[in-house]
Amino acid sequence: MKHKSITNGNRSKNTAYLIAAIICCGFLILGILFMRHAWTLGRQETIKDMHRSTEQSRDAVKSHIKDNFHRLKAVTVLAEDNDFLKKDKLLNSLTQILEKNTYVTIGFVYKNGNAIWIDSEKNIHESRHYETKSLMRSISGINVLTESGWDPDNNIFVNYYALPVQSKGKTIGVLFAADPEKELKNTIKKSLYSRKGYANIIKKNGDFAVTPDNPVTSGTGNIFSAQANIKESSKTEMLENMSNGKSGYSERKVNGEKRLTSYIPLGINDWFICYGMPEKLVNTNLRFVTNGAITIIAAAMAIFIIFILLIWHTGNTGRKELEKLAFEDALTGQKNLQKFLIDAKNILKKNIKTRYSIWSCDIKNFKYINDLFGLEAGDTLLKHWAGYLLKNTGDDEVFARVNADNFVYLRSYKNKKDLEKRFYRDVSLFEKYSEIEWKIELCCGVCNLNPDENSISVSNMIDRANVAKKSVKDTTGCGLGFYSKKIREQKIKENEIESGMEKALENNEFNIYLQPKINIQNHGTIGGMEALVRWLPPGKGIIPPSEFIKLFEKNGFIVKLDRYVFEKACETYKKNILDEGHQPIILSVNVSRLGILHLDFVKTYVSIKNKYKIPNGQIELEFTESLAFENHKQFKSTIKELQKNGFLCSLDDFGSGHSSLNILKALRVDVIKLDRLFFCHGEDSERGLELVKNIIAMAKALKIKTVAEGIELKNQVDLLRKMGCDSIQGYVFAKPMAIDDFKFFLKQWQGETANS
Ligand code: C2E
Ligand code: CA
Ligand code: CA
Repeated sequence: MKHKSITNGNRSKNTAYLIAAIICCGFLILGILFMRHAWTLGRQETIKDMHRSTEQSRDAVKSHIKDNFHRLKAVTVLAEDNDFLKKDKLLNSLTQILEKNTYVTIGFVYKNGNAIWIDSEKNIHESRHYETKSLMRSISGINVLTESGWDPDNNIFVNYYALPVQSKGKTIGVLFAADPEKELKNTIKKSLYSRKGYANIIKKNGDFAVTPDNPVTSGTGNIFSAQANIKESSKTEMLENMSNGKSGYSERKVNGEKRLTSYIPLGINDWFICYGMPEKLVNTNLRFVTNGAITIIAAAMAIFIIFILLIWHTGNTGRKELEKLAFEDALTGQKNLQKFLIDAKNILKKNIKTRYSIWSCDIKNFKYINDLFGLEAGDTLLKHWAGYLLKNTGDDEVFARVNADNFVYLRSYKNKKDLEKRFYRDVSLFEKYSEIEWKIELCCGVCNLNPDENSISVSNMIDRANVAKKSVKDTTGCGLGFYSKKIREQKIKENEIESGMEKALENNEFNIYLQPKINIQNHGTIGGMEALVRWLPPGKGIIPPSEFIKLFEKNGFIVKLDRYVFEKACETYKKNILDEGHQPIILSVNVSRLGILHLDFVKTYVSIKNKYKIPNGQIELEFTESLAFENHKQFKSTIKELQKNGFLCSLDDFGSGHSSLNILKALRVDVIKLDRLFFCHGEDSERGLELVKNIIAMAKALKIKTVAEGIELKNQVDLLRKMGCDSIQGYVFAKPMAIDDFKFFLKQWQGETANS
């Protein structure tokens, strides 16, 4: 029950953790989605913003270029003058423009391709100008602006502005000026004001029209150079847009840094203003807010997780302690029965193909070990045993201490020999144990699990192993018993007997048989009779006491039965012996050891005796010898009490167990009944008879009467007579009989003895 509630508790806790985890994940996902959305909005805003910046740059650059063309255009008006082409005049006009402007070179290209120009040092050059070819495009009537190129005269990068010069409706040449590239660059720079990022002028194929003023891309000829990592699809899109004169937006990586780029056509040449900005510089506010939010969410999550972990940890420790209490055997630190039942069940479920057996084991007379050597010594022995089992229990096996010296194991095996081998290995553990001077005997019962019986529960198997263990309990030395069909049938029979006993008593199914005791020293008169119980269930044969007495002793029913038998015997005795005027015969009745443990034992028996008015000295109670040995003191006082109330007391089965002749000295019994085993034919029969002779002699000396039981042969009667034995109870004279038969026997016997 306990483990069930622990498991239930765990289950609900786990559900709570699961819900918490789901909520946690939910918040996280919501947070991420929200952040993504904020980012997208921010990005759109950024793109718009960048586009605006690009337009501003474009406008600044465009007006710078246009201004330059306007200035030069103003000069071309002079061409209407007839003297314009005169060298002095031309040079004079050109020098004036050079002085007023930023140009480093200014010149004129004649229609024939010859050029005249002045450099910044005002040196005059004449011949073909190196840029003549590109400048001559202007002859067709268009303004030409060249991309940046190296000017060898001035040793700087310059851009050439060229425009046609007309006189009287006819083109007479081309005016050109080299403006330092830095002028254009400064314009771009100024257009950016305080804005971050870089603006460049590129051609529609990505080549830089003006050398890039960007520490990252400087020195490279194309915006899509190897350093700038742009997705192929974005590159194609950008090139396509540019070749169609469309503006756009792209992303790329430059030296591992993400960069956003906006581009729009300049409207001059095939040039584009391209404005780029590292992503990290974009939306720093938004970045700050989102980073802050992420940090707060992460911190909240971390605290939440730590909190959950803490609760889980405390729960876990608590659970572990509870589990320990519920599942651990306090003495050995190993599993207890509860845990065994769970583990064994799981192992059996997991290994359906393996053969398993359940063992129930204990140490014979462990009680004595505790009594003789102390509880601590007993505990040490049990711990030693548990330690041994821990080492000798396989992975898919389990063992536990049930209580006291009772252990159960689940062991796998291949065949019966395996099991026996393991048992003897276990036995050797106790043989080697030297902490106490006591021969420790192991007693085990084994129940092998039948593959076709897999519905049987582990606790049922333990019950069976216990039954098997009981079957070897009384054998000498270590014992190993297997649960078998025979044991099972026996158990079923016992169950039947147990379930029917109370009713049988109510229905008077228990009857009394009487067996006479013949007084062999006194002309063979009937000195006594023993009342022996028989169970006569209606419609069935007689059930002998050998089939139920032991069982009733175990379940306690014997006390009730003994009283019943005693009362019945007294009633019979009164009716058939006393009331019919027979010579008094001593009636003996058996009393089981449990009976005298009852405090009202003497009182009850005395009241029954009085009820049937049986005179003193007519009833003998038979107690087994082992009872006298075990409960010596109580037995002694009970006997005394009984004798005071007119009962005779006898020691039954004398010589069958731990007899000690000393007992006779201490216990003042009236009779001893020599056990049947003395008179069985066997190797030691002669020694046995010698013993009987001495016991009889000693009993005589102590004024104790002797009865020999189980005598079947005439010569034994003669021998016992000679030995001085008082009476004989045995088949040699008569078997136990029903009342009417006994009365008949009595009549006949008395007639015979009277005649002899
Ligand atoms: P017990 O008290 O030792 O009774 C004597 C047993 O020996 C009787 O067996 C009897 O029939 C048997 N017996 C007598 N002479 C011979 C013989 O020559 N040869 C052989 N082989 N056996 C002989 P029974 O009646 O079967 O009783 C068995 C035991 O059951 C008794 O042994 C006694 O311990 C117990 N018992 C019988 N009736 C009662 C009772 O009412 N109460 C109690 N507590 N025990 C009883
Ligand atoms: Ca008896
Ligand atoms: Ca006996």
